[in-house]
Amino acid sequence: MKLTSRKVPTFGEQRRAGRQNDRLQAPALRSRYATIGKLQIDLSFSGTSGSPPSPQSHSYYPPARAFFRFACPCSECDGEFDLSGQVDELAEVKRPSVRTAAGRLGCEGMHFRERATATPCPVVLSWRLVIVRSD
Ligand SMILES: [Zn+2]
Ligand SMILES: [Zn+2]
Repeated sequence: MKLTSRKVPTFGEQRRAGRQNDRLQAPALRSRYATIGKLQIDLSFSGTSGSPPSPQSHSYYPPARAFFRFACPCSECDGEFDLSGQVDELAEVKRPSVRTAAGRLGCEGMHFRERATATPCPVVLSWRLVIVRSD
């Protein structure tokens, strides 16, 4: 990811700051999902014309914040991917003790939102969740 410095925060930067704030407000994984011992979220991206953004892997343990929104890795984009619903759904399933789910999501962000040439972001996320039960 490229680092840029601008004086005026862009829409994307404001959105990132908001997300940071929401993460701090999120409950701990152990209070939101008492039966999860470990949650792993793997993200990979496609849809861009150049080389795809690097894949990401996030691991959550009981003390971690139960917060599952991820910024689109595209530097021009203000979009995010929200996997909260997918985590909820997989957490409902009680057996087996290790379970996975996977799917794809298109980015709903825009490039150049402030300009007349605004275009939807082409990034497609392939996500994979692994939940390991705590007992
Ligand atoms: Zn995007
Ligand atoms: Zn994009």
